Amino acid sequence: MTTITHHISDDLLDAHVTGNLPHAFSVVVAAHLSLCDACRARAEAAEMLGGALLDRVNPRAMSPGAKDRLLAALDDTPPPPAAIARSGIFPAPVMQALDGQPPKWRMLGGGIRQQILSADREGSLRLLYIPAGRAVPEHSHGGLELTLVLQGSFSDSEGRFGVGDVETAGDEVDHQPVAGMEGPCICLAATDAPLRFRAMIPRLLQPLFRI
Ligand SMILES: [Zn+2]
Repeated sequence: MTTITHHISDDLLDAHVTGNLPHAFSVVVAAHLSLCDACRARAEAAEMLGGALLDRVNPRAMSPGAKDRLLAALDDTPPPPAAIARSGIFPAPVMQALDGQPPKWRMLGGGIRQQILSADREGSLRLLYIPAGRAVPEHSHGGLELTLVLQGSFSDSEGRFGVGDVETAGDEVDHQPVAGMEGPCICLAATDAPLRFRAMIPRLLQPLFRI
């Protein structure tokens, strides 16, 4: 049994519970919740609090039906993933993202492998396989990156992350994760793609301004 020390922030948990997280991030949060009793309890409490607050809203202060629609939206949390269950190190939300299939790794060089699970306007979701002791090529990102460890561990300037731990990295974090020596590290990472693109635009325009 491993001890989880890096959890989901309140803001991210609230956004997840109210259905306001992009798909890639909600999969990482759901996978962490499936591994972490503490965060699952917080998520359930947040859902109950949301419902209780709405119960106290004066119905006349809202348009007809609005309260019912809001209550329905709160109840509209994703159903438990009954169809596709956990498999090996992959929690049910990850197996769902994999369509129930084992990962189809693509080699990235240096023994590092990845599989893109989804990519859309709001972000991308990938599995990463990092050999023991190997560093992930340095990368910075314009937006938010959420990384959940599924096997092994990695360490960077923010600390050590073991199975179940989530690293939340903003664009201020210029991190270079290094896999632990105990074995290959497999993690699930969601990246905020459009923010990265938006952050690139000033750079793309820079030569114009220099003229
Ligand atoms: Zn947690």
